[in-house]
Amino acid sequence: MSVYLDHAATSPPRREVLEAAWPYLTGAFGNPSSVHSAGRAARAGLEAAREQAAAVLGARPGEVVLTGGGTEADNLAVLGIARAVAATTGRRGVVVSAVEHSAVLEAAAALAAEGFDVTTLRVDAAGTVDLDHLASLLARGETALCAVMHANNEVGTVQPIPEVAALCRAAGAVLHVDAVQSAGHLRVGFGVDGWEGVGSVAVSGHKLGGLRGAGLLAVRGAVPLAPTTHGGGQERGRRSGTVDVASAVATATALSLADAERPVQTPRLTALRDQLLAGLLAAVPGARATGHPSSRLPGHVSLVLPGVAGHVVLEGLDDAGVQCSSGSACSAESEDASHVLLAMGLGHDEARTALRLSLGRSTSEADVGRALAVLPGAVAAAVGH
Ligand code: PLP
Repeated sequence: MSVYLDHAATSPPRREVLEAAWPYLTGAFGNPSSVHSAGRAARAGLEAAREQAAAVLGARPGEVVLTGGGTEADNLAVLGIARAVAATTGRRGVVVSAVEHSAVLEAAAALAAEGFDVTTLRVDAAGTVDLDHLASLLARGETALCAVMHANNEVGTVQPIPEVAALCRAAGAVLHVDAVQSAGHLRVGFGVDGWEGVGSVAVSGHKLGGLRGAGLLAVRGAVPLAPTTHGGGQERGRRSGTVDVASAVATATALSLADAERPVQTPRLTALRDQLLAGLLAAVPGARATGHPSSRLPGHVSLVLPGVAGHVVLEGLDDAGVQCSSGSACSAESEDASHVLLAMGLGHDEARTALRLSLGRSTSEADVGRALAVLPGAVAAAVGH
């Protein structure tokens, strides 16, 4: 049985989630827009899921837009909010942190091609956004939208969202927060202290034990949003297309379960993370942790190794029955150095030695022990490749 330590890439779907979704793939299979009883049954499930997700996120149900995943939620926020704000206010400035996921960065690049003025917010060596730089970017008064993720997928750093939100609010800029990695592990949403100035929050189902290709965007009622898909006007005109009710139910169930279990799982994963990191640093001379030492995701270990390519170590680990990542699985198969590590000041060569081990609900102490037992050998074997 192999040890799965790649929960930041995806986490296994939970049985309770599949059971909650099953009725909407079978008996209650109707189109939620249909008026007959099969449609009404699907609609009831969809609206219950929306309410369940909204309750976790401190949002009103009408503020939750169900999407086909985290990427789509980020795209809808970045493109939809920037375009709508520009249309009503004339503001065409967009600020994105240097460590955002490509779902945000590429959407911002699309806005730049439309003539928006897109600027990159600097981060420090721990991957934390530079608040003075943000203040200076916002001082220009032209910013329609700012995107700062809650927790980074590659290095685990958790951003100071309350401080970012306060600056954005004072500057009249909408703040979008990608909470794909943090939802379920940390408190996220409009009800969190200091998040009053947050305009939208993206969540993805499959990082939480839900299903891939399903997610949501919570967007405050007062924030203008131009749709990015056009069609039948579902989701109150914000996201046309027949909603996948089963997947929406899966996302909401997974989010709600993870949130309820957070008080137990977060300290447990934090302890396992610290044990794993300490063991790895002790076993691999020259290895160095990346990301913020304390303001970081509970189950996230990221490090750079002494002169060995991360992807080679990862292959050795896989052969030894431990699955992890050399960076971000979602950002493609390429061996390019990560934009996150480069933004944090690492050189290309060092950035290519990155390794990420991410823990989740199913991770046990024995899994951590197994990773610690095999990693030094995998690193030693990778030297010289
Ligand atoms: N944002 C972050 C921070 C992520 O880590 C990911 C996926 O890894 C995404 C967005 C994209 O989410 P999805 O895989 O649901 O499209």
